[in-house]
Amino acid sequence: ASTHLPKTMKGILIEKTGGTEVLQYKTDLPVPTPKEGEVLVKNDYIGINYIDTYFRTGLYPSPKPEILGREASGTIASIHPSVPSSSSFAPHDRVVYLASSSYAEYTAAPASKTVKIPPSISSPDACAALLQGLTALTLTEESHAVQRGNWVLVLAASGGVGGWLCRILRAKGAHAIAAVGSEDKVAVARESGAEVVLVEGEGVVEGKVRECTGGKGVVAVFDGVGKATFERSLEVVGRKGTVVSFGSASGAVPPFAIARLAAKNAKVVRPNLFNYITTAEEWEYYTTKLWKLMEENHMKVKIHEIYPLKDVARAHNDLEGRKTMGKLLMTP
Ligand code: NDP
Repeated sequence: ASTHLPKTMKGILIEKTGGTEVLQYKTDLPVPTPKEGEVLVKNDYIGINYIDTYFRTGLYPSPKPEILGREASGTIASIHPSVPSSSSFAPHDRVVYLASSSYAEYTAAPASKTVKIPPSISSPDACAALLQGLTALTLTEESHAVQRGNWVLVLAASGGVGGWLCRILRAKGAHAIAAVGSEDKVAVARESGAEVVLVEGEGVVEGKVRECTGGKGVVAVFDGVGKATFERSLEVVGRKGTVVSFGSASGAVPPFAIARLAAKNAKVVRPNLFNYITTAEEWEYYTTKLWKLMEENHMKVKIHEIYPLKDVARAHNDLEGRKTMGKLLMTP
């Protein structure tokens, strides 16, 4: 089944890695044809994630030329006949998905990584929730299963994933110490449910962790900042605690000697969302859980700004320049 489709579309193409100057706004890209197992989605809201900057700079390798982007929400435009009817997608269904080449008007996405948006959730909220919300859910269930009453540390707490971590940790009844990069970000981290919020500075985090945990250290550190904070995360985690190193906003964490972990029997995990949602069962479990969490806990999704697609360079500059709080979206 397919609706009337144009031949060409707008999108953001990169042919080589680099700064935001490599982001090319094109108006004549071919509309993709869905292949086996794929649905074609007409995108309404395109999610910007920090990982998009890694593919742009080359920190993560990917084949070029490439239409950037890993997430969007929109409506089903067509369905490849191989997609099982049990998936029950129909044209015009409101959906959100994780797939490459989402910085465009249309994207061919695997049906296995596409999910219908519940009626109570808006298309922008669904897009703002999917990748970052699933990340925070899997990090707090699998990377370190946070328990009620645990003291944990969240870095970049007013950011996309950081905000979801604070909301989910609050829902779990854990105590989140939230660190943010500047004073203007404090209120957002607090609104997300962090119990203690502090502005990054020499010795500030170490001192607050000591104070809140009676010198024991936190049970887990959720560190998406990477290079700039990894050593400190090892320092403030308590005996038998876990450093969850899940990102490289300040650069990649350099290699370290695992023997150092013996000092506290600490764990370091380096998770990737996609390896937690690989099977159909995992995808179903976590997406259902995310919608339920949003509906039952009335979680307010924080959207920083909705940019026009052609302003993608400004959006990337804002994200990498630590100027944003919450989710960055684009409209095609
Ligand atoms: P954010 O909205 O959190 O933006 C990044 C934030 O990192 C900034 O706002 C800033 O907050 C902080 N930061 C600290 N140092 C720097 C620096 N030198 N340069 C830039 N930013 C810095 O982005 P996302 O929510 O999209 O992603 C957060 C992290 O999570 C990223 O590292 C990302 O790669 C990772 N991630 C990992 C996933 C996985 O599967 N492992 C999945 C999704 C995201 P402040 O100023 O408050 O310090």
